[in-house]
Formats: sequence, structure tokens, C-alpha cells
Amino acid sequence: MTGPWLGVVADDVTGACDLAGGVAAAGVTTSVHLGVPGDDERAEDDCVVVALKTRTVAATDAVRESAAAAGWLRDRGAARIYQKYCSTFDSTDRGNIGPVADALAAEGRITLGTPATPAAGRTQYLGHLFVGDRLLSESPMRDHPLTPMRDSDLVAVLSRQTPSPVVLLPLPAVRAGAGALAREIEARAESGARHLLVDAIDDGDLDVLAAAADEVRVPLVLGGGAGVALALARRRSTGAAPSAQVLPAGGARLVLSGSASERTRQQVAAFPGPVLRLDPVALSRDGLDGLVARLRDVVTAAGEDPVLVSATAQPALVRAAQAALGVERAAELVESALGRLAVAGVRELGVRRLLVAGGETSGAVTSALGLRRLAVGTLAAPGVPWTTGRATAVPGSPEVALLLKSGNFGGPDLFRTAWETAP
Ligand code: ADP
Repeated sequence: MTGPWLGVVADDVTGACDLAGGVAAAGVTTSVHLGVPGDDERAEDDCVVVALKTRTVAATDAVRESAAAAGWLRDRGAARIYQKYCSTFDSTDRGNIGPVADALAAEGRITLGTPATPAAGRTQYLGHLFVGDRLLSESPMRDHPLTPMRDSDLVAVLSRQTPSPVVLLPLPAVRAGAGALAREIEARAESGARHLLVDAIDDGDLDVLAAAADEVRVPLVLGGGAGVALALARRRSTGAAPSAQVLPAGGARLVLSGSASERTRQQVAAFPGPVLRLDPVALSRDGLDGLVARLRDVVTAAGEDPVLVSATAQPALVRAAQAALGVERAAELVESALGRLAVAGVRELGVRRLLVAGGETSGAVTSALGLRRLAVGTLAAPGVPWTTGRATAVPGSPEVALLLKSGNFGGPDLFRTAWETAP
């Protein structure tokens, strides 16, 4: 049996789903494993994604887990390894994109890629990342609770995270065509470059990059946002429709929002149903029991109508909570509360469909539910597929449908419209 065509190491679960949803929509069979799979687990699909929660952990932990995930994929014959990070390059000067890239590019490999994902409004020009019509540093990402992005120059950002040489391949090198770009990549690798960031402002640029990657004669690890992977999938596509998703229909519905992004704030504001507010300062004082009891009442009253539990707040409120509790403690309180509410919902309240907003938040919720592997299905919005998996932390391991959404993703109405595409 041949191994996967693409083996992806993703630094968070919503990023993994973003990539997986797009690749699956191109007709390539795709699954997402949550955490480094065990030795006895098989890689069954053409594209196999290992979703880690390494975006904001200590760099040494991120490196260890990413190397283990890549090793698992290589052992199963993955033809190519892909480092998936956020299309807004979420990281700090301590990492983790650089240290992980160094680890995956061990043994003389180079990394090649870009966060550019034009369909999501992320473009890279002269090494600078744009979010829509704004520089990254002027986008709402400058106020992210864990990875505030205040420098748009990605060569500079990445160079602070790795001792290895980082080089830009500017747009004219891409527009010269795949053959010329492949020779340029080889020349840069020859002269010592280790990490190559490539400008791309439309999907055609990413198609050139994907074609060049197939031609290059130096061993490489591809990387970036979902954009590069989607370009690879377009080359791979058989034209087959993605396999239809089955199960589970029905059951109570819960939206858990732990993202503080501007887009998620709009989605929370537009949610038409009942809302339970979750505040880390109150949580640290009062504990979670009262909230579990209120969730029980609200879900019971709502029947199958969606209920929202939200920690989402204005940046000033997030900063106040962080000042009172510390950044990590505030995040930990919110994440573990949402994880425990998800478990209570599935175990006691018949919740079978969950929409989770936030990358870190989704990692906390999937891990609390004991999900190990997600089958990837229909897109509810670009970058946001419905998935299904077994909640092994709940007695009977019920099958649940999950929509795991990165903070910035989906239209303002997603919390209402997503259900229309639900299995
Ligand atoms: P996104 O996908 O938007 O980056 P994440 O879930 O990855 O969302 O990150 C948001 C982080 O902010 C989480 O760690 C979450 O626990 C934390 N957070 C959410 N709401 C609050 C709040 N009100 N106060 C402090 N931290 C918060």
C-alpha cells in the first residue's frame, strides 16, 4: 500500500480543519488526527493531517510533538510533509513557526512556503503579509490575546524565531514561471538559505509555487497557511466530488466561543438564540458549577435550538482579565471551562452538534471530549468544514458533528447559517 500523498503537521486544530476542508472539497480523501497518533493507528487517506495544539506552547514542546507527528507520517510513507501554520502567521518571537520549521527541515532539507491564502484575503507581497486591504500589523491581529502580530515583515518575524537563514522569493521570481522558480529555489538552497518565504497575491502564484515544488531537486518541506496546500490539491484533484458525510443528525446544538477575534465578536453579536456569558475573572472566583447548572436549564428549554456559551469580549475586557489573572491563567480558565461544558453537554444534555470558535479553544474542546480522529465533510463556509468523530471521553463514545472555526473565519452570520449545511 502506498502512503498518503500529503502528510500535514498542523499547529492547531482549526487550521488543520481549514486545510482539510479545502483539500477534501477538491476531491482528495482527507482525515484529521487529533494529537500524535499511536503506533497502531493507520494513515488511511490520501491527505492525512495531524492536528497539534502547539501554536502557543513552549517551543521545545512544539518541536518535540511536531517531529513526532512528522515521524509518524513518514513511517506511513507520506510522500510529502507540510508544516501548516496560521495564514496570519500567529507566533511570537519565541516561536513556534521557526523552531518547528528547523526541526522538520532537519537532515539537509529546506522549507518553502507562504501563509498567503488569497481566498481568505491573506496575501504576501515583498515579504509583507496583508489581511484584506490592511497590513497584518494594522489588522485586528495586532490585538490577539496570545499572539499579537505587530510586525508585517515576515522575513524579519521568522528571522527572530530561528538562527537559520530566511530568504524571500519576491513576486517577480514567482511570475517568472514554475521552471524558473524551481531553479531559483535550488540556487538559494545551494547558497545556504534554509527557509524560503514566497510572495503570492493570487491563486495563480500559488499554482506556480506548487508546480515548482514538484520540479525542485532539493529535499523540501512545504509549509504555510491552507493556500499552498489547496494549490497542491488542485494539481492532485481527480475532479471527484468529496464523499458525502453521514451521521449524526439531530441532537441538541451548542456553540462554544473562546475566540476574541473581531469576526467572532460579530458572530456572537448576531447569534439569535440564548447566550451564557463566561468571564474568566468570575470563573476564578466562583468556579464552574453554577454555569453547568445554568447550561442544563438553558439547553433543556431550547430543545434542539442552538445555545451559545461565550467568553468572547472586547479587547479592553480581555486585557483587564489578563492583567488580573495573567495571560496564561485567563486562557486556561476559559479553555478548560469550555471543554468541561462541552463534555457536560454531550454526556448529560444530548448535545450531538457543536460549533466551536477559536483555535486554542477548539483544541481544548476536542481534547476534553476525547476525539482522536475526524472525518472531514461539507464546508459550512470557506475554511470551515463540518467534521464527525467519536467523543471517547463520554460513556458510549457517541458520534458527534463538529464545526471547528478559527477566530477570523466565517461570515458574521455563521453561528446561524452553519447549521443549514450540517449533517
Ligand atoms: P482565535 O482562533 O481567535 O485565535 P483562540 O481560541 O485560538 O481564538 O485564542 C483565544 C484565546 O483567548 C484563548 O486562549 C481563550 O481562552 C482566550 N480568551 C477568550 N476570551 C477571553 C477573555 N474574555 N479573557 C481572557 N482571555 C480570553
